[in-house]
Amino acid sequence: MTQEIKNPQSKIPELEPLLEKAKGYATAFRHGIEGRAPFPTATTQELRAPFNGALAKEGTPAGDVIDQLAAAADPGLMAVPSPNFFGWVMGSSHPVGVAADWMASAWGQNCANEIVAPAGAIAEEVAGAWLLQALDLPAQSSVGFVTGATMANFVGLAAARSEVLRRIGYDVEANGLFGAPKKVAVFIGEDAHATVFSALQFLGIGSANVVKIPVDDNGAMRADVLREMVSACFNPKIIVAQAGQINTGAFDPFDEIAEIAAEHNAWVHVDGAFGLWARASKDRAHLARGLDKADSWATDGHKWLQIPYDCGYVIVKDAEAHRRAMSIAASYLPTSEDDRRDPADYVPELSRRARGFATWAVLKHLGRDGIDQLVTRHCDLARHLRDRLDGVPGMEVLNDVNLNQLAVGFGAGKALIEQNKLAKDMLTMMRDQNEFVLGGAEWHGRWIMRVSIISAPTRMRHIDALADAIIANWQQLNP
Ligand SMILES: *Cc1c(COP(=O)(O)O)cnc(C)c1O
Repeated sequence: MTQEIKNPQSKIPELEPLLEKAKGYATAFRHGIEGRAPFPTATTQELRAPFNGALAKEGTPAGDVIDQLAAAADPGLMAVPSPNFFGWVMGSSHPVGVAADWMASAWGQNCANEIVAPAGAIAEEVAGAWLLQALDLPAQSSVGFVTGATMANFVGLAAARSEVLRRIGYDVEANGLFGAPKKVAVFIGEDAHATVFSALQFLGIGSANVVKIPVDDNGAMRADVLREMVSACFNPKIIVAQAGQINTGAFDPFDEIAEIAAEHNAWVHVDGAFGLWARASKDRAHLARGLDKADSWATDGHKWLQIPYDCGYVIVKDAEAHRRAMSIAASYLPTSEDDRRDPADYVPELSRRARGFATWAVLKHLGRDGIDQLVTRHCDLARHLRDRLDGVPGMEVLNDVNLNQLAVGFGAGKALIEQNKLAKDMLTMMRDQNEFVLGGAEWHGRWIMRVSIISAPTRMRHIDALADAIIANWQQLNP
């Protein structure tokens, strides 16, 4: 008797009943999401139990596996696609993107190369061009489809590192940083996102080996200090700017940064994980003015554009610097000719999911007007929430609410230690009620409640319900 007959699981299961089951669980989750307590209800220990145990000798029938996975995961799911999710800057996995991603998985495409995955490569190529149109960035730029803004920052800064060293005659791809004739100087705002520092860490530049530029009260880089520091430096230079600070939504002064960079031959990289999308809103595009004069940009698909996780984009104006930093050559890999674009030339990975399908589908579905409305609506809702909260005695909105972020402080006029305690107590009360997910952070030395409005289904009624809950809790805490 062969192994085949002994092991009932060696037969490849039918896909259709499995997808039917998956569809049932997936749609039940999404239908029930608004009424669901958004934070997971099970403890880590409770979640571990059903997933755990030794790997069994005997397999489990396919349908049972899907049932068991759904049951084990459900109490540990965070309701990120909920209209009541404001905890971090995360997107809501648009239904059109989810459907496209299901097909990408079923098609099993390895989107490394145009010859291996022609449709996947073309979807990326076209979606990449559409992204440049939606974001109003230079049309000749190259676009890489990565896992998120962390990797987009990594790739953009790798292209920057390559180019600023090439300009002094050094090939960093071949020779690494150790033998570089000059150190690469990196200028970065004090309120930059933590992941930019990770990117610098991965690139051998070092997360602490930077010149930090002070910021204003809203978290935007001070161009006057940047000018001073850059003028005093004679090394190859990279300036890392930011569009959309995670607590305040602040934008760095790009016009001035571009001017300084042009005078001193510096590369400008912009971390615009969500803030870059202000450019897609007619009403808010002015916030990101001058940003198109940068050399590279990092943004997310899985935040404002609502692509299912994971999806980010790196955009580089000098496509050659981008390819030089990322391409892989090996004799066994097919190479594309003439005008064909190999996806792997623009990202760190070789084998990868065909990310272009979901992006193509969501962009096609929303169109430029749909993206504009989505971004503008979230920004308008943020203003509405500010208006509801700001007049309440003892409560203060600490940031300029231009984008989709609110930084709320409690105990106006009290000592800092008291203010911090009140903010933390408010966060605990809201967490215990488990109706909304909110964030907490230390902002310029003070504890705040963070509100990120970025989920596609969020409407005015959700914002009003959130404002009612925050105010009711505050009045209870601070009668
Ligand atoms: C979210 C975010 C990142 C990190 O993006 P990931 O998609 O989590 O990798 C980087 N910078 C900013 C400003 C962000 O908001």
